[in-house]
Amino acid sequence: MDKIKMKTPLVEMDGDEMTRIIWKLIKDELILPFVELKAEYYDLGLKERDRTGDKVTEEAALAIKKYGVGVKCATITPNAQRMTEYGLREMWKSPNATIRGMLDGTVFRTPVTLDCIKPVVRTWRKPITIARHAYGDVYKASELRTAEGGLAELVFTGESGKTERLTVQKLGGPGLLQGMHNLEASVESFAHSCFKFALDTRQDLWFSAKDTISKVYDGAFKEIFERIFEDYREAFSRLGIEYFYTLIDDAVARVVRSEGGFIWALKNYDGDVMSDMVSTAFGSLAMMTSVLVSPDGCYEFEAAHGTVTKHYYRHLKGEKTSTNPVATIFAWSGALKKRGELDGLPALCAFADRLEKATLDTISGGTMTGDLAALIEGEKPRSVTTSDFIAAIAGKMK
Ligand code: NAP
Ligand code: MG
Repeated sequence: MDKIKMKTPLVEMDGDEMTRIIWKLIKDELILPFVELKAEYYDLGLKERDRTGDKVTEEAALAIKKYGVGVKCATITPNAQRMTEYGLREMWKSPNATIRGMLDGTVFRTPVTLDCIKPVVRTWRKPITIARHAYGDVYKASELRTAEGGLAELVFTGESGKTERLTVQKLGGPGLLQGMHNLEASVESFAHSCFKFALDTRQDLWFSAKDTISKVYDGAFKEIFERIFEDYREAFSRLGIEYFYTLIDDAVARVVRSEGGFIWALKNYDGDVMSDMVSTAFGSLAMMTSVLVSPDGCYEFEAAHGTVTKHYYRHLKGEKTSTNPVATIFAWSGALKKRGELDGLPALCAFADRLEKATLDTISGGTMTGDLAALIEGEKPRSVTTSDFIAAIAGKMK
């Protein structure tokens, strides 16, 4: 059988622990036998990040900017315990944060859905994608708890020297204060990424905030989305998709009554909360894929879960684990499909579809990892190890 050829290299970012083991299995058994893989490899494993002073992460981000498409394995974000475990020189930043910062992107999370796994919400038939704005608001706020009453004010001193001053509240006793911000440019980038992704995936885009209460702050988000939508209006109507703004509480009610199949864009905090709600209601974190889309159209695909440390420690003791590789497989298929679209390689796109179908058919046929077996109602499916599951998919591909 002739292997499928590629044109432009894919930026491949290796990672840590259990997902690093899964990464190699996927490549060896599901990709390399079928595709003449052209990849530029970056090892974002913690040891290599430490050795290079985290330069390797920046280089990988630059490579995504250069080539346009990357696929990333889950990586450890160091904390105090990892400092000793790996003897690190520094507590390096989360690679995802570094890459997101350099690409200025928005993260879209989509569940992989299957007929045999019923979402908690019975009406949901198609996936719901959450787009979370990942800059500012309460995540970059200054907070104060006062010991006495007094006057709380909001003061802004412009670069021109001009100042603006607003009374927040005359506190009659000890109180709580919070000052937060966002940047017009960041909201604009967020809007561009959302409209681009909606066109890309041919789905309606919903955006929700609370502009009736927060007339200036949330009102600006609403206004910026409306203004930027004008650049995309024609393309939207050509594809027959819609942009739709509604208040966040109305959106929550509509989402629960919907049948899914759209993108829901949310401010930072709302997205944090709603993405966990939606992913749990769809079934399993191990089935959640994630793609970072930059406003200038670069894509980075990955699984939403982490390195599955608990399973890795069992693996190190020589136990066979049943860790679910589906989200990582879909990160690869998503990246290869996007590469195929950009380079005009229908055979590569078809291969990516075949890989996804083989994965879903394997599960529907009753062979799956333990986390999924636990979600299936009725007849008891076969719960297998990660390597047996991947071997079963490879068998279907051949
Ligand atoms: P995690 O790796 O997502 O795992 C948490 C738990 O979720 C696991 O113990 C497992 O539950 C279940 N799980 C997650 N993925 C699974 C899969 N593919 N198959 C089966 N079960 C799965 O989160 P964590 O343990 O909090 O974090 C571990 C490391 O990952 C940390 O060092 C963190 O910094 C990193 N992390 C990286 C990313 C990223 O690179 N994008 C994201 C999040 C976390 P059971 O143990 O009950 O089976
Ligand atoms: Mg959260």
